[in-house]
Amino acid sequence: MKKKRIPLRKCVACNGNKPKGQLIRVVKNKEGYLNIDLTGKMNGRGAYICFNKECLEKAKKNKGLNRALKIEIPDEIYDKLNDMIDSN
Ligand SMILES: [Zn+2]
Repeated sequence: MKKKRIPLRKCVACNGNKPKGQLIRVVKNKEGYLNIDLTGKMNGRGAYICFNKECLEKAKKNKGLNRALKIEIPDEIYDKLNDMIDSN
């Protein structure tokens, strides 16, 4: 009998594998524009980060998102992520 597998994604900060619902997806589209993807359906290259401040801070410091997406992440994106975590 096959078990149903929950898709896991890796957080760029802590390298932990978590169900997609517990992570935030940051997407870089073809034009190189960054978006925070709450639907998980945006096209482009995506990187995941845990929905908490620890990982956000860590990602900022170790530039995990920069590496994963091969692009400089502007503070604006971190601010947005921060606000999202705050307001949750
Ligand atoms: Zn994490």
